[in-house]
Amino acid sequence: MNSTAKKTQRVVIAGGGAAGFFAAIACAEAAPGAEILLLEKTAHFLAKVKISGGGRCNVTHACFEPREFARRYPRGEHTLISALQKFSARDTVDWFAARGVELKTEHDGRMFPVTNSSQTIIDCLTNAAAKAGVKLKPNCGVESVVEKSSGGFELKLSTGDTLDCDQLLLATGGCRSAALGHLAASLGHQIETPVPSLFTFHIAVPWLNQLAGVAVEDAEISIAPAKLRERGPVLLTHWGLSGPAILRLSAWGARWLAEKNYQFPLLVNWLPTWSDDKLMAEFTARRKSQPAKLVVNFPVAPLSARLWTQLVAAAGIAADTRWSALGSAGQHKLIQQLRRGEFAVTGKSLNKDEFVTCGGVRRDEVDFRTMGSKFCPGLFFAGEVLDVDGITGGFNFQNAWTTGFLAGNAMADFKTISSS
Ligand SMILES: Cc1cc2nc3c(=O)[nH]c(=O)nc-3n(C[C@H](O)[C@H](O)[C@H](O)COP(=O)(O)OP(=O)(O)OC[C@H]3O[C@@H](n4cnc5c(N)ncnc54)[C@H](O)[C@@H]3O)c2cc1C
Repeated sequence: MNSTAKKTQRVVIAGGGAAGFFAAIACAEAAPGAEILLLEKTAHFLAKVKISGGGRCNVTHACFEPREFARRYPRGEHTLISALQKFSARDTVDWFAARGVELKTEHDGRMFPVTNSSQTIIDCLTNAAAKAGVKLKPNCGVESVVEKSSGGFELKLSTGDTLDCDQLLLATGGCRSAALGHLAASLGHQIETPVPSLFTFHIAVPWLNQLAGVAVEDAEISIAPAKLRERGPVLLTHWGLSGPAILRLSAWGARWLAEKNYQFPLLVNWLPTWSDDKLMAEFTARRKSQPAKLVVNFPVAPLSARLWTQLVAAAGIAADTRWSALGSAGQHKLIQQLRRGEFAVTGKSLNKDEFVTCGGVRRDEVDFRTMGSKFCPGLFFAGEVLDVDGITGGFNFQNAWTTGFLAGNAMADFKTISSS
């Protein structure tokens, strides 16, 4: 029998967010004899869960096929497939259900607790951690870490104390700046340069800004030089454009857009269900059927009257132009505005409902079967500290649940250290 298996393990988890809690609970449930310490540098555990999803917590996404689910990660798609096969969105739903929390699915696939309150998720995680015997230490940050020659780690804490542990999980969240990845870096890991993901675009075009609040259910947006294209709801704001399609585009283009300092041309197709030919045929029909009516008064469905009025003006068509007077040049300009409107993006704003970091601990230095470091035995990673991020819709929490679950279970198996 392996004598090391009898040793009481001390597992330290740095970071009391979604990933840290999930890992701590998984580890404590799988290794009841181990000492599991969850250290949080601030006074509050699960602070991001609290504010997530506008206070409702978008826990995961109703997509239960791991390969399909993984396609929603601009960074991490291929690496995450096998991890999601071990702990998928279905497992998340079952995990919470087994602890008394029912999730509901909204029309776009996002899943929330039926209570519509992130506090339900916080209470569930906190109770599960207490029940499993996890020791929580708030106001206790890990400031530095040294790998001991005899195995394990010595941690210097913000309280001034030092602490030894056999296994260490870094679940410290997104490295907003490279400096925040210092614990992983001090143990030899490389940090992919962090840049923001999930943001909205600044566009200073007065007529667009005046339409703040107008939602277009189906628009196609593209950034030609980056070969990026998205389709879906777009929201006009006081400062430019927002909405699910913009956020997804920002996620896929996070690194390219950062390199361009968020200054680039954006093409908007406000009518993706119409072709140029179909629009030309429609205008010809209108010239015949309603020649005396004003162009500005007859929007093409499904555009709102307010947006149509501004697009007609942006095409240089005077407000008193009748369909009979819309010549081929005017028609061409209108179709350009409707299907290929070009806007200069001049900056970005973080999306207050959800933002994440693109970048973090390099994926190729981590074994995604265990979430263990490939070269530092006993070191594990979970959550946003990794160079993994998803589009909006519950994918970022699922990364935290999946990688936290795998890390927690791997840490509960002491043999994992010697085999990693
Ligand atoms: C406003 C907002 C809303 C969001 N809404 C959603 C949503 O609805 N659905 C979704 O899927 N995603 C959402 N996200 C993204 C999601 O919250 C994160 O991806 C997720 O919280 C990452 O979990 P984590 O545990 O890896 O990191 P975090 O939640 O960031 O937790 C890391 C913790 O580690 C602590 N810490 C850092 N350094 C140390 C240290 N040295 N020692 C000890 N502790 C340390 C931090 O204080 C923090 O509490 C949202 C993000 C934001 C900002």
